[in-house]
Amino acid sequence: MKYLLVIALIFGVFWLWRNNRLAERNAARPMPPRAPSSAGTSVTEMVACDVCHVHLPRSEALIGSKGIYCSDAHRRQAGG
Ligand SMILES: [Zn+2]
Repeated sequence: MKYLLVIALIFGVFWLWRNNRLAERNAARPMPPRAPSSAGTSVTEMVACDVCHVHLPRSEALIGSKGIYCSDAHRRQAGG
């Protein structure tokens, strides 16, 4: 009966050790690189004004002949 207890204890320790090893291996595994999501189309592209360097959505920017501007005043100031 005593041996049965010892064997059970050995199995218990072995089981704990194995679980620990598996957990360590899972933790050490490097995270897979995150794939670029297809939902990226909803992200607004930001552009910087060539005069004041303020960032604004491309849809709100004024595209001049010499660059991108935040307002008509800056477009005229830059001569574009
Ligand atoms: Zn500006």
